[in-house]
Amino acid sequence: MTAEVAERPDDALDAVAEPVPCTRCSNTALLTIVGRCADCISDMGRNHPEEREAWKRELTTAIESRGQ
Ligand SMILES: [Zn+2]
Repeated sequence: MTAEVAERPDDALDAVAEPVPCTRCSNTALLTIVGRCADCISDMGRNHPEEREAWKRELTTAIESRGQ
């Protein structure tokens, strides 16, 4: 029986960067900016200007709070 074998993704990249799930599309991404992956940022830039403005405000808030 091999039922006890844990399901593990290929962890070859774990030492380099920690994958984080995107808060918008839930895809795991190595790089997210205020929770959004590059695909979402690109998609927002092309198709969702209102979402992108909201995201930019979040980004500004995150940067400002980091500097305090
Ligand atoms: Zn995403």
